[in-house]
Amino acid sequence: YDKIILVKWQFIERKGEIMILKKTLFILLEIIFFIIPTYSQDNLKITDKPLEVTILAIHNDLVFNENWSVFKEAFKDTNIKLKGIGSKNLADEIQAFNLMITFGELPDIISLSQGDKLEELGMNGKILPLNDLIDKYAPNIKAFFEKYPRYKKDAISADGNIYFIPDYYDWYAMRASQGLYIRRDWLNNLNLKVPNTMEEFYKTLKAFKTQDPNGNGIPDEIPYFERNTEFVEKELLGLFGAEISFYIDENKVKFGPKEERFKEAIREVIKWYSEELIDSEIFTRGFQTRDYILKNNLGGATFDWFSSTSTYNTSLKEEVNNFEFIAIDPPLYKGKRYAPDARPTYLGGWGITKSAQDPISIIKYFDYWFSPKGYELANWGIEGDTFLRDIDGNKYFTKKVMKDKNRTPLQVLREEGVQFRIGGPQDYEYEKAWGETDANFWMKRYTQEGFLVEPMPTLKYTLAENEKLQTIKPKLNTFVKDMCQRWILGVEDFDTTYDNFLKELKHIGLDEALEINQKAYERFISSN
Ligand code: CA
Repeated sequence: YDKIILVKWQFIERKGEIMILKKTLFILLEIIFFIIPTYSQDNLKITDKPLEVTILAIHNDLVFNENWSVFKEAFKDTNIKLKGIGSKNLADEIQAFNLMITFGELPDIISLSQGDKLEELGMNGKILPLNDLIDKYAPNIKAFFEKYPRYKKDAISADGNIYFIPDYYDWYAMRASQGLYIRRDWLNNLNLKVPNTMEEFYKTLKAFKTQDPNGNGIPDEIPYFERNTEFVEKELLGLFGAEISFYIDENKVKFGPKEERFKEAIREVIKWYSEELIDSEIFTRGFQTRDYILKNNLGGATFDWFSSTSTYNTSLKEEVNNFEFIAIDPPLYKGKRYAPDARPTYLGGWGITKSAQDPISIIKYFDYWFSPKGYELANWGIEGDTFLRDIDGNKYFTKKVMKDKNRTPLQVLREEGVQFRIGGPQDYEYEKAWGETDANFWMKRYTQEGFLVEPMPTLKYTLAENEKLQTIKPKLNTFVKDMCQRWILGVEDFDTTYDNFLKELKHIGLDEALEINQKAYERFISSN
């Protein structure tokens, strides 16, 4: 087109026609921009001159790195370059955040896993409210909020302002994260079927304990194990539909340990533990538990992440004879199946501080990650390098990602900046593309069959509420966790100490915490 236009210019000499031609040229250019699809770089440029913007961001112990291909590409598109602040050696984001607050020097952007901390800064005037900026300069974010009202609620703080753009999970597409896994080869060895009810699950664990399913002649089996101590009470109790903390029941905020279902569930868990159906070292064994127990052919069942748990079928194929670890439906308990772990709608996000010189350009940069190009870049990386398209236009990851000798696909992607915590929408298809077929199948099943116990939305508090809650909630958590451990380990008798336990909850301030949460929940529901 450029050439044709230039040639035309040379033939025109009369001044009057130049105006018409200018107009034609303008329209032509508009057409060119319009027909070159979304990915024209000029289309996405935010500033004429390159603009450097500082950011504090650490995600999964990775300090933001401006050399990641994803952010270099974003710079090419937008002319905005993010520059990480803070030491590359300090990979604890909360420590880094606290240091920054202590020394009082704010970068232009803060990315953090704890949105409430960003909101607190916002309500103290250190982070900018984004409502007007979004309205005027962020058409993609605006459209996204209109399409997904729940996502918008998640962004609104207790005072009605938006202080950070959340880093969204693809919650509308996929909500499952973890599931119940069992050794099918052990079931086969003992001629057992996949347990369907809680009673059958109990009997299966009992058989794992007493009938030597690993066939070494030693009673060394650990029927049920968990690798993270935080999961211990939560997930075992959760399979019975019990809650360990605040939750919503028909628009009322409740506290799990006060309820009947909790009492039923913990009595069962105590019994299972005393019969050695649960790993005796479950509270102390630590994060490597799953690796250790599976490699040594010791463990029968666990509740864990689908994506990573399914991979043992490949990695232990040679090491453990006939090894087959399969996901199953959660056992039926009182007419329902409970999977006590689901993805939240988001985790953290990023905001613009009052130190930022050019918030308009930054909100436009935030908006870029909601454009088709930015969305693809954040989730898949760079076309031709980390991903390709098949003839139907479906994306898939390249060998570079899938066949790395030393790193998992996710590790490779992370070191390109893919899936780093910015504020933006996740594309579940990215996870499906590297996940095991099996894991994908079960995640879909858990989501579609309604097994998932939906977590309470992340509630938003005013400064005063927050201050109050911070004196109550940590104490509640520690106390409940500690008592659960004592009961399960048999240090304290459950039935004779439960009433005192309730009294102590009251003493710590449970009623006030319930009241604050109820108010916050109602505010959340009506926010828009
Ligand atoms: Ca054995």
